[in-house]
Amino acid sequence: IRKSSPIPVALYGGRNAVSMLPGGGIGPELMNYVREVFKYAGAPVDFEVIDIDPKSDENAGLDYAITSIKRNGVAIKGNIETKSESAGVLSRNVAIRNELDLYVNILHCKSYLGVPARQKDIDIVIIRQNTEGEYAMLEHESVDGVVESMKIVTETNSVRVARFAFEWAKRNGRKKITTIHKANIMKLSDGLFLDTSKKIAAEYPEIEHNDMIIDNCCMQLVSKPHQFDVMIMTNLYGSIVSNVVCGLIGGAGLLSGRNYGDHYAVFEPGTRNTGTAISGKNIANPIAMLSASIEMLKHLGHFQHANLIQRAIEKTICEDKIHTPDLGGTAKSTDVIQRIIDHILQADIRP
Ligand code: ADP
Ligand code: MG
Repeated sequence: IRKSSPIPVALYGGRNAVSMLPGGGIGPELMNYVREVFKYAGAPVDFEVIDIDPKSDENAGLDYAITSIKRNGVAIKGNIETKSESAGVLSRNVAIRNELDLYVNILHCKSYLGVPARQKDIDIVIIRQNTEGEYAMLEHESVDGVVESMKIVTETNSVRVARFAFEWAKRNGRKKITTIHKANIMKLSDGLFLDTSKKIAAEYPEIEHNDMIIDNCCMQLVSKPHQFDVMIMTNLYGSIVSNVVCGLIGGAGLLSGRNYGDHYAVFEPGTRNTGTAISGKNIANPIAMLSASIEMLKHLGHFQHANLIQRAIEKTICEDKIHTPDLGGTAKSTDVIQRIIDHILQADIRP
């Protein structure tokens, strides 16, 4: 689906170099678990760690991070906090996605067997425009007490998202795509996004296409989620709907999200939380970041290592039921990691 990248991923002596941006909150501890698990799984990846000071108003760390990702082609990241409330300080997370033109985000929400959840057997793919919409960060106070905030929808990016989604659906044997919008109110912006997806859909007669208004979509997701297969939407709806679906299958601690452009790929936990309140307590669920690392390994072509870690996670979560408090369990983060490593070390699931 990604056009063949003219910029090859970094590869030194058979090992990939990957930029690692731990971010704030639980990011650094989750990254340590990734490194620990990679060590035991023998994953051939070296990390270039870049810390960004959330309190700094300077963009030196951000510039270095972007340069590093451009050099390595691939990154894994936690959520970078924007501490300053001042309007001049923009979100670094958004800046990274924009600068690297990571125009699409994919979140594959698939239920884990054995994890207590509000809905069972969910298998929904959310494909989200990732660089414009309400995240354009173009806000100003035009006169006292009146703020204007611009939502940008371009035909170019709407086409790219729709094309990506239909190609992805085709290659992954998915049957249906639903465009989520509010074109009844935002007739021009969401209208453009919807019309574009209809045009692209016409080129893929083998894939069913329908559309749904965002408010109804939220209700349908909670009551009848199995009607959804692949969903495409603009940026802010994507953020909200991703959180709804993660909530349905077990919360923020399980799923990962992938950010793609034509040249670079960035992997991160699906709901992009900082988790400040639970950091340093050994209770954060390490699975979301580990899932991100598995997607990263697949992207680099290390399928055996990805499968080894995936199966160790499934044994730990679905069979042994070693669950952190967010899943209703009492296990520590390190208990989960230790059990995953135990499974990796057992010969029966080695590649
Ligand atoms: P934000 O970064 O948007 O401020 P929070 O960091 O407050 O969001 O996270 C939202 C909720 O998700 C919190 O209740 C947090 O504890 C929970 N959460 C996020 N990540 C994890 C995780 N890895 N394990 C367990 N709970 C998590
Ligand atoms: Mg937070």
